[in-house]
Amino acid sequence: MLFGRTKKNPIKLTDKGIVEWKYTTCGYCSTGCSIEVGLNDEGKAVSARGVGDADVNRGKLCIKGILEYELFESDGRGRIPLMRDRIHEPFKQASWDEALGRVSDEIKGIQDKYGRDAFAVISTGQIMTEEFYTLGKLARGVMGTNNYDGNTTLCMSSAVSGYKRSFGSDGPPGCYEDFEHTHCLLAIGSNLPEQHPIIYWRMREAREQRHFPLIVIDPRVTMLAQNADMHLAINPGTDVVLLNSFAHVILAEGLQDEDYIKANTEDFDEFKALVAQYDPVTASGITGIDEDTIRNVARLYAKSPAAMTIWTMGINQSTHGSDGVVAINNLNLITGNIGKPGGASLSITGQSNAMGTREWSSCSGLPGYRALENEQDRQDIAEFWGIDPEFFPKKRGMFMTDILPAIETGQIKGLWLIATNPMTSMPNTARIRKTLEKLDFMVVQDAYADVETNEYSHVYLPAAIWAEKEGVFTNTERRVNLIRNVAPPFGESKPDFWIFNEMAKRLAPQGKINFPETTEGAFEEMKQLSKGRMLDISGMSYDKIEQQRGLQWPCKEGEDMGEQRLYTNGEFKHPSGKAKLIPLPFIDNNERPDSEYPFWLNTGRVVEHFHTRTRTGKVGNQNKFSPTPYMEINPDAAKELGIEHGSYVRIVSRRGDAVLLAQCTQRVAKDAVFVPFHFHDCVNRVSLGLLDPHSRQPAYKQCAIRIEPIADQQAAAKMNLASRSY
Ligand code: SF4
Repeated sequence: MLFGRTKKNPIKLTDKGIVEWKYTTCGYCSTGCSIEVGLNDEGKAVSARGVGDADVNRGKLCIKGILEYELFESDGRGRIPLMRDRIHEPFKQASWDEALGRVSDEIKGIQDKYGRDAFAVISTGQIMTEEFYTLGKLARGVMGTNNYDGNTTLCMSSAVSGYKRSFGSDGPPGCYEDFEHTHCLLAIGSNLPEQHPIIYWRMREAREQRHFPLIVIDPRVTMLAQNADMHLAINPGTDVVLLNSFAHVILAEGLQDEDYIKANTEDFDEFKALVAQYDPVTASGITGIDEDTIRNVARLYAKSPAAMTIWTMGINQSTHGSDGVVAINNLNLITGNIGKPGGASLSITGQSNAMGTREWSSCSGLPGYRALENEQDRQDIAEFWGIDPEFFPKKRGMFMTDILPAIETGQIKGLWLIATNPMTSMPNTARIRKTLEKLDFMVVQDAYADVETNEYSHVYLPAAIWAEKEGVFTNTERRVNLIRNVAPPFGESKPDFWIFNEMAKRLAPQGKINFPETTEGAFEEMKQLSKGRMLDISGMSYDKIEQQRGLQWPCKEGEDMGEQRLYTNGEFKHPSGKAKLIPLPFIDNNERPDSEYPFWLNTGRVVEHFHTRTRTGKVGNQNKFSPTPYMEINPDAAKELGIEHGSYVRIVSRRGDAVLLAQCTQRVAKDAVFVPFHFHDCVNRVSLGLLDPHSRQPAYKQCAIRIEPIADQQAAAKMNLASRSY
């Protein structure tokens, strides 16, 4: 007897007349998938597919990568530079020479009048590494402003800060291959299937081959939690307490790796004294996780031959995000789970090249993980660039989240924004609107003229996008991959690299500082500056990167492949060569629900959209699958408030309000709601965003709101629609 389908219909793909497939790398998230874009006989991009022999994605792509080729001609792209004297007046078209001349005059004028630091630069995690390096040279070596940062402060600065405090340097120690070796995976505040679908697939495939326990710590029943062996639905903002209590159990029961601790760490006694205060009973009262579960997870993790922890914004976007990262590192240091297959701390990064900006942009220091605070580093870079080392400040300036308040107080008069959209991404939209209106001058450089923040600019510079240019990205596991130029820039838009070089010509005294003409030339400079350092890329070239479908750093001169893991020999980057075990007292300083605002608000992502929808909001299918701002609410809470599934409701905080579609689901607790952060004039009208003291990253994940039913559903639908500006 035959079971199942006896006759299968073969899948028929539409013939799109593809005559060539071109290699490139996805420009959305930090997974770093290799893509081939299909071109027809007119050279037009008409399709995309995953690269089968690329280790990262092994032929697969998520919905964003599959449809990314549609961005080349999507709505809202900037075709030509635009200028105006005052914001809110109509823009006039300008030539590149006029626009760049105006920007350079404004920079010089503001810096002459108010000082070099009065003109700030905020960039992104989405341009090429060579572009970051060139922008850093321009900002630090020519403009000399110390108020220069990236929007990665909104997503990854807690990971950077935590790695530096524990290990003495930034740099994720683990890699995706660790899934194939681990015996226990702890995922904290990370919903892989929606945020990083291809990393999820790698993890899932490894788990299908050889089952290992997956423990998810998250206040919400995420898709990852639904697939976990254990889900610990923690009270928001209490992760440091839970991690301290794991360490408490491990030390109390003698499960630690004593040899590893003695050989490779320092400050163990102070750490031990602190975690002694976090017994499971005390921790249970704070975290909401019962004491037996705390003991079970701690034992499971410590007894595993290799255990690893991954995390994303659930840890980072908190008032103690940096402490959360250090707590994860503490757990892995006391169990000897750093630098070995399957034993790792692995931050899952957000933007496609957030790692590239951390490594080479000079935002937080100088290129190649060098520090402004280090005299030798200042000397080395000044000599290499041919400038006076005294031109550099001796410590880093403001983070992005401090630059914007400094506009309010008049310290910052001019701002250059590159591929970032604070009108949608920053907490407390009303405050950001007033802030940007105060600027004497703002230039927005972006591939999209309709990006919301452009409403407040004096000059708009249209940038080329993703594979309209050539260069490299670094992904979450330190893999450098190549973006080949697939299509010409849209309209008269230009690569960011070209714009920075042109600005350098207008701002730098003739011949004072050399800027390479090509991205490959900039890559060669970076290779020289990387030699002998932790992030050594001197063994890489564009062709070799493409042949290998990406290479991990360090990859030293003469080596064929990069190294998969960091700290394999137990040598860390603090002056002592040891990692620090840092005691972390819990400080509960966030806004909490009360009688007036009784719900926790948690924000996050959906798989169809990327960040502020500047790109995915233009792709038809992605909008069809995820068209509108919504809120997940527990059905019992909805019933008590008289809210029906599918009705519009208003959420209100001390900052503002937003209108959302209610979706009743058991995924959230009765005192909590979840709202995707992608939509304009929506959840960030409400969010608080208190800052982490170490990383200056905002706590997007925790604030207090109330929920109000809306009688006039038709009017509410119009307000909700306004959040989808495209
Ligand atoms: Fe692109 Fe990330 Fe999707 Fe891979 S997982 S295709 S890198 S968006």
